[in-house]
Amino acid sequence: MRALVFDGRLKFSSEYPDTIARPGECLVEVLRAGICGTDLELMRGYMDFRGIAGHEFVGKVVGGDPGLLGKRVVGEINVGCGSCDLCKADLERHCPNRTVLGILGRAGAFANYLSLPARNLLEVPDSISDEVAVFCEPIAAAYEILEQIRLSGREKIAVIGDGRLGAIVALVLKAEGACPVIGGHHLEKLQRLAKLGLEADLAEKLKPGFDVIVDCSGSEEGLLLALRLVRPRGTIILKSTAKESSGLNLASAVVDEISIIGSRCGRFAPALAALAEGKIDPRPLISAMLPLSDGVSALSLAAQPLIFKVLLSAVNSVLPA
Ligand SMILES: [Zn+2]
Ligand SMILES: [Zn+2]
Repeated sequence: MRALVFDGRLKFSSEYPDTIARPGECLVEVLRAGICGTDLELMRGYMDFRGIAGHEFVGKVVGGDPGLLGKRVVGEINVGCGSCDLCKADLERHCPNRTVLGILGRAGAFANYLSLPARNLLEVPDSISDEVAVFCEPIAAAYEILEQIRLSGREKIAVIGDGRLGAIVALVLKAEGACPVIGGHHLEKLQRLAKLGLEADLAEKLKPGFDVIVDCSGSEEGLLLALRLVRPRGTIILKSTAKESSGLNLASAVVDEISIIGSRCGRFAPALAALAEGKIDPRPLISAMLPLSDGVSALSLAAQPLIFKVLLSAVNSVLPA
């Protein structure tokens, strides 16, 4: 199969051994994959990753569960052991023995095929196009915030970071009745976000006093800024993972009694429902779509500051002999 393979350097291979379905799992032919900040971090050494990355995808089931065969699906990316207390509590995504698609112990979506258990797969309604469905994972990650904190709609909310994750988080919060302001550094991006109906401003112009801050900056400075902008007893939600982290003084979090909440993956069902209802349209966030064979350029493109979402198209689907 064709695949983007990382062994310390990212390379495209047209003759990589086919991913085969793990016992009891489904084989999924990838149609589209999305590149996110986590993928870029993996390529910079995060988690000592090796192999095929990619965890945002829409695909077609080509093997395994007969009930899903031929169906277009998206897939939750964490696969738990199924027997520990966290798995039994429906929290597979926190299982200490989990594998994570394209991140931890499991080949990912930057390839023609991937393997996931049927229980991870959700059928995509025909009304949702591939280009929209591929956003399900990051949108689910944004919905996770609403599973972690209750919002009345009256809170003052800031989203730090004008990149793809910040944009998606703001779109979701807005779709669910909140009025977030995005604080960023790139005027051009902020203007583009404003065109999507989002309130967006330079981060340095934001005034302290926010009830809730969602840090999607991908850097430690985002958390520092959040600590400066949040009101006493407010909440900071940390959404992005960054490899680098130096000494951080959290004294102000103690003095001001700030709740700091880590937030990662979410359930797909609310995200898929929101997409089906047309509550969220992520398509304006697509900066480019490139074939898998141009994956190396696609990842460098995604790393450029003014680029939002870069998609990979895994199909020009003549399967390798
Ligand atoms: Zn992601
Ligand atoms: Zn488990």
